[in-house]
Amino acid sequence: MSYFNSVRTPLVKTIGFLKFNPSTYQVRHLDLHEYQSKQLMDKFGVNTQKWRVVKQANEATKAADELNAKELVVKAQVHAGGRGKGHFIETGFKGGVHLCKTGKEAERLCKEMLGKHLVTKQTTAEGTKVQSVMLAESVDPARELYLAIVMDRKYGGPVMIASPKGGVDIESVAEETPELIFKEPIDIIGGIKSEQSKRLAEKLGFTGEKVAIAQKQMENLYQLFIKCDATQVEVNPFAETTDGKIYAMDAKINFDDNASFRQKEIFAMRDFAEEDQREVEASKFGLNYIGLDGTIGCMVNGAGLAMATMDIIKLKGGTPANFLDVGGSASEEAVTEAFKIVTKDPRVKSILVNIFGGIMKCDIIASGIVNASKQIGLTIPLVVRLEGTNVQLGKQILEKSGLNIITANDLDDAAVKAVATLKN
Ligand code: GDP
Ligand code: MG
Repeated sequence: MSYFNSVRTPLVKTIGFLKFNPSTYQVRHLDLHEYQSKQLMDKFGVNTQKWRVVKQANEATKAADELNAKELVVKAQVHAGGRGKGHFIETGFKGGVHLCKTGKEAERLCKEMLGKHLVTKQTTAEGTKVQSVMLAESVDPARELYLAIVMDRKYGGPVMIASPKGGVDIESVAEETPELIFKEPIDIIGGIKSEQSKRLAEKLGFTGEKVAIAQKQMENLYQLFIKCDATQVEVNPFAETTDGKIYAMDAKINFDDNASFRQKEIFAMRDFAEEDQREVEASKFGLNYIGLDGTIGCMVNGAGLAMATMDIIKLKGGTPANFLDVGGSASEEAVTEAFKIVTKDPRVKSILVNIFGGIMKCDIIASGIVNASKQIGLTIPLVVRLEGTNVQLGKQILEKSGLNIITANDLDDAAVKAVATLKN
């Protein structure tokens, strides 16, 4: 579902590049680890290094033996870029990307990384716990370049972006030397034209026979982008090595969640450990939940009503703690779970239930609220506004429950009351 992304600010943390391309914020993305992205690239003929992934440090020597490389690069796998310049919270250990020569050294690096939280420019201040590390044969980049493809609203389709100033974070390049960022909007029906990839390859400084090789890499990357329903493919660095080869040394790929039905293999790679646990829990029950930073927990049906509820909370001086749409066909069990998820969040200081019962009946919502409140022993204020199908039945269930509920007559009244509970 893409509609709730307009309320989702923390997306920036996982999509560094999009900081200067806000039009692409609207879509909800599946994020993959680098090694998973490399697997896909390999399938589409984009050059990547050989790699192994380890989840325990003692697997590192075996992985290193298998790679049998002169030099290894050891990389923490988290859904965030800027790892090279990051640090680990628990130990202060610097860098989520390291070079080494032997399996033993790789094992020591894995020990430094696994189980620790890596903080980078693109993570929160708490960082992200490293649960897997990639070992790859190191390549020696002579030039670090930048290559990306994004869906861009401004151009109404995919745009390939290249810069000879890769390796560093592209936001700085865009700010300081925008003239070094080159773009080619691609016709989604016709695909990338040879003259376009040639132009970009030359802007990236490839000469002679390298131009055609770089072009092929770009075209293969574009095939991946289209065939996999990606919303963004970012290769940084895209590198020319000292021995004259071209590699995608790092990769970040996002996929449109609306395409999950036809990209089952890709979506099966989703790593739930990297996601907001409240959202993961909610998705098990078919609930649309987005965690936010405010203090008023909202339980609503319908995305439009959810948006309106959040807006009106803000208008009345409060801040929403979440966006939760229980949908039109939630069971009593799902409502109970929804309520538990909202109340589990320690930030939530009061709850506002705003249900317009159409297909979803008010009595089901009321029973869910009562069940959940009894199970968890609700102590924070609860404001409820019910309207629509079976509203009288719903109100009776709430009244008979003996719970301390503040009822509201309309949306405005409900928001005023929810905000007022915070002042007591
Ligand atoms: P990021 O910091 O999360 O973007 O991780 P990258 O994979 O882009 O690595 C950061 C930097 O480490 C790159 O810009 C390179 O300079 C360096 N690096 C990454 N892989 C290798 C490698 O195989 N060999 C060498 N020599 N340097 C590498
Ligand atoms: Mg990188």
